[in-house]
Amino acid sequence: MKFGGTSVGTGTNIRHVADLVTSYAKKDVKVTVVVSALAGVTNSLIETACQAKKSDAQSIEGFTKGLLQKHQEAIAAAIKSKAIQKEVTEITEKTISELEKVLTGICYVGELTPKSKDYVLSFGERLSAPIVWGAIKDSKVETACFTGKEVGIVTDNNFGEANPLMNFTTHLIRERLSPMLEKGVIPVVTGFIAANQDGIVTTVGRGGSDYTATILGVALKADEVWIWTDVDGIMTTDPKIVPAAKMIPQLSYQEAAEMAIFGAKAMHPRALGPVNKENIPVRIRNTAHPENNGTLITKEPQAEAKEAVKAVAMIKDVAMLNVYGAAMVGAPGSYAKVFDVLGKNGINVMMISAAASEANISMIIKRGLLGRAVSNLEIALSEKGGIISEITTEDDVAVIAVMGANMKGTLGVASKIFQIVAKKGINIRMIAQGSSELNISFVVKEKDGVAVVKAIHEEFNLDKA
Ligand code: ADP
Ligand code: ASP
Ligand code: MG
Repeated sequence: MKFGGTSVGTGTNIRHVADLVTSYAKKDVKVTVVVSALAGVTNSLIETACQAKKSDAQSIEGFTKGLLQKHQEAIAAAIKSKAIQKEVTEITEKTISELEKVLTGICYVGELTPKSKDYVLSFGERLSAPIVWGAIKDSKVETACFTGKEVGIVTDNNFGEANPLMNFTTHLIRERLSPMLEKGVIPVVTGFIAANQDGIVTTVGRGGSDYTATILGVALKADEVWIWTDVDGIMTTDPKIVPAAKMIPQLSYQEAAEMAIFGAKAMHPRALGPVNKENIPVRIRNTAHPENNGTLITKEPQAEAKEAVKAVAMIKDVAMLNVYGAAMVGAPGSYAKVFDVLGKNGINVMMISAAASEANISMIIKRGLLGRAVSNLEIALSEKGGIISEITTEDDVAVIAVMGANMKGTLGVASKIFQIVAKKGINIRMIAQGSSELNISFVVKEKDGVAVVKAIHEEFNLDKA
């Protein structure tokens, strides 16, 4: 069971989580718990680390004070026993004092590397897990607390988006947790954070606690992995955009992964890889409504869905990069050169579209990486004799992704989508359809994104699904 940031956002919520976990344990269900940082903490850690890098020492003390208070309040509300409160408070104080030293170090050096950033980010989960552990212990159930590193999640050195070395990791997790689970002890594990082979802290990407949960699920051969969150399951669109969005009871791994990649925050995009391979079902459930079954993700969705379109998502914070060059026409390897420059500079291309004339490639990348992408392409490929003659950008766009496994082979879906958009008088800037035909994605101005999502949701009757 993995609990997201809002599920452990306050002490009262943590108490509820502990009650939920122990209610299953009392029914003889063996549970391993994975926890995220308290809602908002990971973001505030990034912000403060970026401030510290600018040698702004003043912000550090205020930040750590506030962080301590937030966690102390959670401890007081989540745990009744004074002795356990004291124990968890001591861990919290020690952890925050370590964080203060790390931030001060960054401030002095004036540098925030991917490695030191992961170290800073790890503190969110290092602070939340002991409180959940304390609250479970408070219910007189045996429990033990681990960081991702202690439990044996070993990754490569790709700081910020590290990948687990699954064979080694599986072996370590089984060795460490199986005997404990057999004895009825509930392990509480920090989500999101792991360590490389040298024991240096890594993180598996934003929203990565989901990934931690599926890694543990596979290693322990779990019957199911449950992702507890603040919505009823995976919905037809973000309920924050369309309140009438409906919960989707069943999805295949492929469909759910597609939705996760395209912005359904309900799930980390890479989290489904390990469970898909081992065929372990995943359930997305609402912490506030445990009576609901949530969305079940399996190899083949059991109920045969007829509708072609199942969901629509909007991805914000992206930018469009257009590369032109007559020299690219008919020149083998020219695309490779463009993607090689972007790849070597750590820029992930989220969407591509190229004209048959080959004189232009349009790409979607994270908005924050746009400057770096343009300057690196210019340096590498625009200088005299280079294949690129012009680069243009648009940084006020959003991707709209329309998804559903039955879109494959269904005629007229694309034309209906584009008619809906045209009827709204909105211009489409770029289009891509993967050969899997599981989704059609297109780009509009960001200010039009919400209207497009609402119109597609309504015209495809997704609220009546
Ligand atoms: P957690 O903190 O539990 O990991 P997240 O914030 O990562 O939760 O993800 C849950 C949020 O994802 C929801 O509150 C919802 O606003 C957003 N979301 C976006 N698209 C979808 C979707 N299609 N289905 C469900 N939730 C979605
Ligand atoms: N705390 C991490 C984040 O905010 C991981 C997670 O919540 O899943 O990205
Ligand atoms: Mg999440």
